[in-house]
Amino acid sequence: MSGTRSAGERLETLAIHAAGRSDDATGAVTLPIHLSTTFERSPEGSYPHGYVYTRSGNPNRDALERTLAALDGGAAAAAFSSGSAAASVALRSLLRPGDEALVPDDMYHGIRRLLLEALQPWGVRITRVDMSDPVAVANALTSETRILWIETPSNPLLKITDVSTIADLAHRAGARVICDATWTPARMLPAFELGADIVLHATTKYLSGHSDVLGGALVVREVDAAFEQIRFLQGYEGAVPSPFDCWLTLRGIKTLPYRLRGHLANAEKVAAFLHTHPSVAKVYYPGLPEHPGFDVAQRQMSGFGGMLSFRLRGGEEAAVAVAAKVTLIRRATSLGGVESLIEHRASIEGADTLTPRDLLRLSVGLEHFDDIIWDLDQALGSA
Ligand code: PLP
Repeated sequence: MSGTRSAGERLETLAIHAAGRSDDATGAVTLPIHLSTTFERSPEGSYPHGYVYTRSGNPNRDALERTLAALDGGAAAAAFSSGSAAASVALRSLLRPGDEALVPDDMYHGIRRLLLEALQPWGVRITRVDMSDPVAVANALTSETRILWIETPSNPLLKITDVSTIADLAHRAGARVICDATWTPARMLPAFELGADIVLHATTKYLSGHSDVLGGALVVREVDAAFEQIRFLQGYEGAVPSPFDCWLTLRGIKTLPYRLRGHLANAEKVAAFLHTHPSVAKVYYPGLPEHPGFDVAQRQMSGFGGMLSFRLRGGEEAAVAVAAKVTLIRRATSLGGVESLIEHRASIEGADTLTPRDLLRLSVGLEHFDDIIWDLDQALGSA
């Protein structure tokens, strides 16, 4: 994951140092948590340290935003109190009533609901398309299309989108590309190099990495009028992370490149195990050569990710039984933390879910892979 960057620009180093030196006043090596909501003016009325009020800016949030922008190679970042808040601000900054958004047929269900239940009633047309099919995308683009939403691998079917091809189509049609890179942080998917205009992260997941803090971010390729609008909504609506949330997220980020290596290596082994298990009907993991997106994933990603889904020959009943029988892996929603999580996805996605009912989604954690495989094996035993 280090690539050919020069000293100080490699991801492992950026993750630790991109925020800059911590505290000139005390020499503290980690940035203190600045809980103050307000900052004092000088007698002449200026704000000598650049901060006025924490909703519009705070040293901990600045440090997090600098780091997030550096990790993606973006021009700037805006941090939010959740990935969903970041998504909502991005959508409302780029879309107006009468516009169209092209979105994947398989995507994180919470953002799908925001699109259908908040943006659509506001007058935005939402068109769902198979983003893994460039012909379908080309046919779906209209003169009203303003944004294309990409999530690759998608949640929970791990469909792969060829980002540079789709970004090219979008840009020729005058639309912008927002890429939800929650599953592929730290340039596992180099979204800007591939043509994305805005990268979204639920920092709740891999970036913070320990299932203990919610957060989101928008990273932009350039600081333009759309970013000014993002900053406006960030500061005036105030869906911002607290200084402690920023501090926790930054602490997680420091080990991100090393954690990702473990997640990826474990997921590849778990996918290979499930792929040959007699109770498993199908494994969705882009690192398996049988996956229809294998070639594209290999070309555009620096790893196949830590997430996978699988379907049970015994149907929904078997899927629910397997989730009930795991002892080490936790039955919980979310992903990207150090602990492996398993989830019967259809039952959390709501009535209109398209997710197969015999599908389980697995966030492969950092336990020893033999222990994860042992747990799955014993749970699958009677499936
Ligand atoms: N994007 C993806 C791919 C997600 O999986 C999630 C949450 O699960 C989100 C966005 C939303 O993030 P948050 O839960 O922080 O609002």
